[in-house]
Amino acid sequence: MTFPLPPNSTIGIVGGGQLGRMSVLAAARLGYRCQILTPEEDSPAGQVAWGVTLGDYEHPATLREFAASVDVVTFEFENVSVEGLNLLASLKPVRPAPAVLRVSQDRIVEKSFLRDAGVPTARWRRVGLMSELEAACVEIGFPAVLKTTRLGYDGKGQAILLGPQDLASAFATLYPKPLILEEFIDFACEISVIVARGSDGQVTAFDAVENRHRDHILDVTLAPAQISEAAAIEARGIALSVAGALDLIGVLAVEMFVDAGGRVLANEIAPRPHNSGHWTIDACPASQFELHIRAIAGLTLPAATRHSDAVMKNLVGPEEAALWPRVLATPGLIPHLYGKLEARPGRKMGHFTRLFPRGALPGEFGIQAALDIL
Ligand code: AMP
Repeated sequence: MTFPLPPNSTIGIVGGGQLGRMSVLAAARLGYRCQILTPEEDSPAGQVAWGVTLGDYEHPATLREFAASVDVVTFEFENVSVEGLNLLASLKPVRPAPAVLRVSQDRIVEKSFLRDAGVPTARWRRVGLMSELEAACVEIGFPAVLKTTRLGYDGKGQAILLGPQDLASAFATLYPKPLILEEFIDFACEISVIVARGSDGQVTAFDAVENRHRDHILDVTLAPAQISEAAAIEARGIALSVAGALDLIGVLAVEMFVDAGGRVLANEIAPRPHNSGHWTIDACPASQFELHIRAIAGLTLPAATRHSDAVMKNLVGPEEAALWPRVLATPGLIPHLYGKLEARPGRKMGHFTRLFPRGALPGEFGIQAALDIL
């Protein structure tokens, strides 16, 4: 395959969720077709794609069939096995490279990578045995957060340890071992930066945004984050250096904490478009999805700039899905729905964005007013 990908080439996307759906829509505007690999019959991405390969992410025959129908492979879902990734990479260009996904798939590999890249994080220890957990708690102190190293998301697979009495039950419930123990960060806010890097090393990052969670699920993103200039520069710098150190092709999100003293600490890397970047569809000349498609297709990258400030609100679960008619009826809200048939609790069903002139993101009262329909 030659890069840049010519128009009408086919981009293969592993995963059928809303990140895939919005990537497909961005790819279509650039004249590309998308083929989705998903086990789900009626998936958000599959509904809008050119084609779907229906099957298991780990099944070699399915992966071969998928690879045969595409020009380049990318992901909206990262938890593909090493064997699956290697098989895909033996057949077609895979962007970002399997090595990038391996870093983000395992919290210990991820934290070790961040340490080696000189990026500050919460203090952490690898914990394989109960005795190691006891020793790690002495070093790190309480409170601390004990997490599984793989397949944890939206707060699943973690426990807060307030004192020695919490160790045994947390250690027994969290699985598989080893686990990772992290210092608890009493953060002032949670932020993220989305960075895009092309195959030629060209790199660009959006400004840091603030993320507010409810029940461990992203609820609201404020763009830009209302943090000090120094913290905002630090956060962008971290994301740019992570993208460079990973030799990334595509976009990635770095989730970070800002503590009371203004220190910025990286928590997690997601090597794909990210929920905290949905606002870029409406507030930027080129969204995170367009930058991702451009990067993996070998096109030039426009700067990650915004023409507007924005508030993004996720619609999660049956209760918020039921707000859809009100979202549609409220002037100024930009609606996005993902095509999911069933609104289960905790499921991201859609989102909406409200724009403000650049530099005019309101304070807390204004933000509450912007979300007023709720
Ligand atoms: P994670 O699965 O690492 O993204 O964590 C999910 C959420 O748990 C984060 O968004 C934070 O709100 C919280 N959290 C995770 N790690 C820590 C930590 N070390 N200190 C304080 N809060 C944390």
